[in-house]
Amino acid sequence: MYIDKKEVLRYLGYHSKKIDTITNEIIDTCIEEIKEIANFNYVYRIFPIEKKDKKIFLEGTSLIFESKNLYAHLLNSKKCALLAVTLGNIVDQKIRYYSKINLSKSLIFDAVATTAIESICDEIEENIKIIAKKYGLHITNRYSPGYGDFPLSYQPKIIHLLDAQKKIGLTATPDFILIPRKSVTAIIGLEDKPSINKLSSCAKCSQNRTCIYKKDGDTCEYKKNNR
Ligand code: SF4
Repeated sequence: MYIDKKEVLRYLGYHSKKIDTITNEIIDTCIEEIKEIANFNYVYRIFPIEKKDKKIFLEGTSLIFESKNLYAHLLNSKKCALLAVTLGNIVDQKIRYYSKINLSKSLIFDAVATTAIESICDEIEENIKIIAKKYGLHITNRYSPGYGDFPLSYQPKIIHLLDAQKKIGLTATPDFILIPRKSVTAIIGLEDKPSINKLSSCAKCSQNRTCIYKKDGDTCEYKKNNR
């Protein structure tokens, strides 16, 4: 598992600020600890899709996505991959533990865990890219419940369709929070031609107020295209 320190610093809000030696050492320790204890697991499936009346139908299932922003994201897609990824319960337990005994370490540990799960998602995305290539298709960026007008209420539906509770121990609370907390569900489109994915505008994005990319004068697409 690769954990990019620059990303950790970004989550911590350091941007271009200089980092002190102690914080630097805590980050290194947390990176090692997450690598040691994370029991990451994932599941994904690829479905042909049909689009009608601004709705997206996953063929062979009863799942229908109703979201203008996701519809736009999958505009040129013939298929889509649903994925669910988790770092497992022990990481959550450690975050809770550090929050009781060492608040600053718990914040750093949390940021390292977030970086780790994003990095695993990137690796899975690469696998899906290889599969898409076999179909002669290209992939879109990831799109998750909570982005734009795509509601969090799709979390349990995705979990159910992927049988993710049984396969990777992922569940959602009645208010759609993923458990374990350091988990992600997402959708990736498989399309004929690589489109420049204009994600939902920042104004429509649920992360608009807290967006870590914007704080740095970036956008999420910028990050994606400049990796
Ligand atoms: S840059 Fe940030 S606010 Fe804008 S769409 Fe991406 S994640 Fe959302």
